[in-house]
Amino acid sequence: MATDARLTIREIGARAVNVPLANPLPTSSGTITTVPLVLVDIATAEGVNGCAYIFCYTAAALRPVTQLVRGLREILQGDAMVPASIARKLQGSFRLLGPQGLTGMAMAGVDMAAWDALAKAVGVPLVRLLGGEPRPIPAYASYFMNGVAGAEQDAEDALAAGFKALKIKIGYPDLATDIQAIREVRRVSGDDVVLMVDYNQCLTVPEAITRARALDDEGVYWIEEPTIADDFAGHAMIAREAATAIQIGENWWGPHDMAKSIAAGASDLAMPDVMKIGGVTGWMRAAALAETSGLPVSSHIFQEISAQLLAVTPTCDWLEYMDLAAPILQQPLVLENGCVVASDEPGIGLSWDESAVTKYLQE
Ligand SMILES: [Mg+2]
Repeated sequence: MATDARLTIREIGARAVNVPLANPLPTSSGTITTVPLVLVDIATAEGVNGCAYIFCYTAAALRPVTQLVRGLREILQGDAMVPASIARKLQGSFRLLGPQGLTGMAMAGVDMAAWDALAKAVGVPLVRLLGGEPRPIPAYASYFMNGVAGAEQDAEDALAAGFKALKIKIGYPDLATDIQAIREVRRVSGDDVVLMVDYNQCLTVPEAITRARALDDEGVYWIEEPTIADDFAGHAMIAREAATAIQIGENWWGPHDMAKSIAAGASDLAMPDVMKIGGVTGWMRAAALAETSGLPVSSHIFQEISAQLLAVTPTCDWLEYMDLAAPILQQPLVLENGCVVASDEPGIGLSWDESAVTKYLQE
């Protein structure tokens, strides 16, 4: 085992895989029909390899994101594997283009893979490199917009798997159906299960205020993204009017976005997405912002690395359990007693199932 974290970037590889879904996943903002992932692999001169994946949401983004990650090789080849320096260099390279969107995704993929390599080089899981240790993180089962009958099934599935919390997506044409879906989950799961709901940005601010006030009587733990994600002022109005906690964060592009959202009082809770917030480097800065602002932090997808990061997040709240990458991973994250524990293997705990990767490889 190597015990020296001084590594040099030799090669940056990116592969596009598109995993078909047996059942499309509906949200109020569109349906996810496949899981399009870009796998990032960084090889070092010292022989340690780092890996991470990026979630593209739509297959149309697979090719450009793959090309962007491969393009970073020109900028970083021969550099030391030092995430803070890499972040500074790439932020400079993309200053004029802008560090949001596909460029932000590519940069975060390299950042996560760099941290994975560093942890592997010293033979510890990422959480230990960051000063923590693997510990149980409460996880909720995350479901889609499956109708009232689907909500009943989701609740049954969540309980059968041992979850003590679940989230459904709502935003039906009328408020009555939103409430029906929530009550269906409650009927099946009882009052002790924690229930979150996600509007995926589909309401206007006045509609959101009306619906949030009605949901105040339904005992949900949070109402997620009731209106357009970057409308921080609108979210602040909703948060003031609703007794239920408002949750946003999965669409913050970096800690700067998060700081603006916090300054606006846009939410009571925070859920940064490790990719959009800037990888491990961005997450640690976001975790500090959340702590000083008193915001509980939950994760957004990317459950394997999020289990590592939430364990060192001072205001850790909930991990979103949505097993998007399972088809191409050798070891899925294990749920025990409603909690997940980060892998104790060196690195993030990702290892590709190469036969599955070959099967779903694009190009
Ligand atoms: Mg969401």
